[in-house]
Amino acid sequence: MEYRILPHGGEAIGVIGMGSSSLGQAGPKEARATVALALEKGVNYFDLAAGDTEPFAACGDTVGGARKKVFYQVHFGADYSTGKYGWTLNAETIKRSVAWQLETLKTDYVDFGFIHCLDEAADWDAYRADGAMDYLLALKHQGVVRHIGLSSHTPAVARQVLDTGLLDMLMFSVNPAYDYRTGGEFAIGSADERWQLYRRCQALGVGITVMKPFCGGQLLDAATSPFGKALTEYQCIRYALERPGVVTVLPGVRNRADLQRVLGYFDANEAETDYGMLGAYTPAEASGRCVYCNHCQPCPAGLDVGLINKYYDLALAGDALAADHYDHLGKTAGDCIACGHCDSRCPFGVAQSIRMEEIAAYFGR
Ligand code: SF4
Ligand code: SF4
Repeated sequence: MEYRILPHGGEAIGVIGMGSSSLGQAGPKEARATVALALEKGVNYFDLAAGDTEPFAACGDTVGGARKKVFYQVHFGADYSTGKYGWTLNAETIKRSVAWQLETLKTDYVDFGFIHCLDEAADWDAYRADGAMDYLLALKHQGVVRHIGLSSHTPAVARQVLDTGLLDMLMFSVNPAYDYRTGGEFAIGSADERWQLYRRCQALGVGITVMKPFCGGQLLDAATSPFGKALTEYQCIRYALERPGVVTVLPGVRNRADLQRVLGYFDANEAETDYGMLGAYTPAEASGRCVYCNHCQPCPAGLDVGLINKYYDLALAGDALAADHYDHLGKTAGDCIACGHCDSRCPFGVAQSIRMEEIAAYFGR
């Protein structure tokens, strides 16, 4: 497992966490074995927008003394009173649901309390007007909730909630199909709007936890992929992890076999994770933008092209630490010899050698 540090709080979070929407399908025994395997492999971030009640019992019965080493992302707006997942904005229902979740998880605190699944501005209005937000804030004040997050598929709503300054984490649907607006109902917002959202989160120190990294499985099958080609899970995971602000990707797993396969990401080689083929599908509005993929490597001058571009974009977005990170790079844009290798290799149409001049001028080296 690799870990990333959450800017607000400093927690070290595994870059692959566990989504639990389908875990209940395996039955109690397999669900518990899957949670146990996750712990053994260093998975420490568990999303609990579950499809049914089983994942709560599996975590509650399995995590035990390791509770302080794991982070639970609990959704204030997910209701399990019927035994299955339901969505609600009702504060009293949310209170009952959270009480049940804490009891079943055998814990008395929530690491990440999430405003759950708001996709329309009217939902956010209702969440505040009807008392759900006050309840979440009260638990944060009491120390029962450690961090506040939001889950949403809609950049405009995410921006609105980010404006409050309350968020430490955003759960967002990140995959190439949605980013390029080819993936159906959740492909919300233009490519540029989505990119700006990721950059803003990074600049604010708000982490992103990724849901639907495989576009509900559509991207993994040529017959359903909007690109007409299947991507691998590893390409999708790397794509998500390389978006600005992303802290962890949360694939939904049904059993130990799913989990083992997904964690194989850490043993995958460059060719297995490279998503440069997406360059052919880049929409005009996003063409020419460096996505930090490093498909253009190797640079003969030894520059980390993706990282240099990332720090530059962050600096432009107002991240005060970006210039310092840039200064600590062994090779900077000023070392570019303008050989043009990256220009010819970049699938996303970036005139990188010219951009390197721009970056060197901006940072002064
Ligand atoms: S220049 Fe192109 S290939 Fe290189 S990191 Fe940027 S987007 Fe990727
Ligand atoms: S143009 Fe500059 S950044 Fe690109 S490969 Fe050549 S030396 Fe490296």
